[in-house]
Amino acid sequence: MDIINILPDSVANQIAAGEVVDRPAGAVKELLENAMDAGATQIDLIVKDAGRTLIQVIDNGSGMSDSDARLCFERHATSKIHRADDLFAIHTMGFRGEALASIAAIAQVEVRTRLHDNDLGTVVTIEGSHIVDQHPESCPCGTSLAVKNLFFNVPARRNFLKNDKVEMSHIEEVFRRITLIHYDLGFSLQHNGKVLYDLKAGSMLQRIAGLFGNPYKERMYNVEEETDLVKIKGFVSRPEFSRKTRGEQYLFVNGRFIKHPALSAAVEKAYADLLPDHSYPSYFIGLTVDPSRIDVNIHPTKTEVKFVDDHALFAILRSAVKRALGQFSLATELSFDTPPEFNIGPAPKDFVPQQPQVRYHEGYNPFRATPSQTKIKLTMPDRAEKPDAPEELTIDNIVPPTTTNSSLLTPNSQSCLQIQGRYIVTTLNSGMAIIDQQRAHERIIYDRLTQSSNQAIKQSQTLLFPVSCQFSAADAELLGELLPDLKEYGFEIAAAGQCTFVVTATPADLSDSELQPMLDQMLSEYKGAAMQKFSNRTAALCASMARQMAIRKGQQLTQEEMQQLVADLFACPMAELSPSGKRIITIVKPEELLK
Ligand code: ADP
Ligand code: MG
Repeated sequence: MDIINILPDSVANQIAAGEVVDRPAGAVKELLENAMDAGATQIDLIVKDAGRTLIQVIDNGSGMSDSDARLCFERHATSKIHRADDLFAIHTMGFRGEALASIAAIAQVEVRTRLHDNDLGTVVTIEGSHIVDQHPESCPCGTSLAVKNLFFNVPARRNFLKNDKVEMSHIEEVFRRITLIHYDLGFSLQHNGKVLYDLKAGSMLQRIAGLFGNPYKERMYNVEEETDLVKIKGFVSRPEFSRKTRGEQYLFVNGRFIKHPALSAAVEKAYADLLPDHSYPSYFIGLTVDPSRIDVNIHPTKTEVKFVDDHALFAILRSAVKRALGQFSLATELSFDTPPEFNIGPAPKDFVPQQPQVRYHEGYNPFRATPSQTKIKLTMPDRAEKPDAPEELTIDNIVPPTTTNSSLLTPNSQSCLQIQGRYIVTTLNSGMAIIDQQRAHERIIYDRLTQSSNQAIKQSQTLLFPVSCQFSAADAELLGELLPDLKEYGFEIAAAGQCTFVVTATPADLSDSELQPMLDQMLSEYKGAAMQKFSNRTAALCASMARQMAIRKGQQLTQEEMQQLVADLFACPMAELSPSGKRIITIVKPEELLK
């Protein structure tokens, strides 16, 4: 008995659809790419309910003839390649002729299209691979393709979709990956009637700013390089604007977003030690290479690519980024972590050098206890033996702060010492404590912010001149959500337009830092914090605010300030760890000192 059937096209297409379109964002990608392949210069994306009910792409490209408007939904129907040889010189985004057939198998699709030379266009309606209607109609040149009720006949897929927020974030990511590199085309994105992006054709930097916010214009260095093998053009973030998460890292090859760990590593290597620990640069880099030097047989949904010359590419990319970083930044800007230089000029002619004198304080003994003033319990993880088991130490006293202006040359058991502008060294009964000033201050501020009873810190200071700040659409939405919480902490911020906010007051103890970068950084911290350790949003917000308000490394502190900081720190119940869980204090025990 024969048991083999040939599957009907509609079933085969539905199976294939699972590969190409696994979620609304997959359909968005295919439709946007088709519009670009059709030579459009303006492409508008309209989405409803995160793509569940509607994904529509309107372009002003070539349009299709009456019969092409039907044929395009057939499997392996493509106008982009004709012969096998064409596969080795692909210049279009699509070429497999599968996308529309797949989409039409799992949705209700309506295409309206008109060729530029025709007076009338055509409308085709297709549902689950079956054409239900075609009629002529007057419509604009180009194509409008509307995908309605995606997965209407595949309940399993439909049920697997995540909530709208998640699906929409996938769609926005697809939108960014396409629009970032096609900055010479105009794009817009509308969701549920709200315009999220309206991007005009322009330069790459304008596009980056359009997607991520205007401040990005000042945060980037230009990377440009042209060799026989590759043309590189893009932007990399200045080291001081690095991020705690690998967020905005975009690599493109021949107009297509790719993931390529080795090339990403090349970019990060170029920064070498310009970045603080655990921070990552943002970059937007487009490579143009001969299409025959990359593997064309890329899966439509995969972003991995193989290069024939990947070692050479790696070296060229790294040196291009390195050059960009070196060329635009002054040495002083880069060496923010190095200790101050001893730049001593030549001695005057009749200068007689003097024998250096050693001065010391005879009564100094770092381990002698001074009478206790405060008694504080501190839990310190015992580093050497049991890294995970915290051991209870009791610090009988803290060296009492004094206000004497003691010279650093005569160390005095009652003073603190600042090293490298980032650590405070002080003595405890149990040894010598090295305190990270920034983390310590973060802890102090965080504790003050989270103690809701403390009204003092919530006082705000009204700004002399209101400051207007601009954000990317995503950040603007987040900031909008956080406004009531921020008001609690002393910020007065009001929306003034879609992505613009006006700040009229800030918390009283916010130092006079620039508001725009501070808020940008705070939102970015908040996103990171909210995702990681913090269970509730107030804690995440306080942690990100504390990071912004804390003193930085490199900030010189007076004796009084250091002593205040140390005293405040030890008054915190969790003095040993920063809000994000980083170690604040290292204690060097007397035995270790002796060694
Ligand atoms: P591919 O893009 O791989 O060729 P698709 O299924 O995505 O396959 O599209 C099939 C064909 O339909 C394309 O080759 C193109 O000729 C036509 N087409 C699709 N979208 C458009 C559009 N927006 N404008 C003009 N033609 C289009
Ligand atoms: Mg296509």
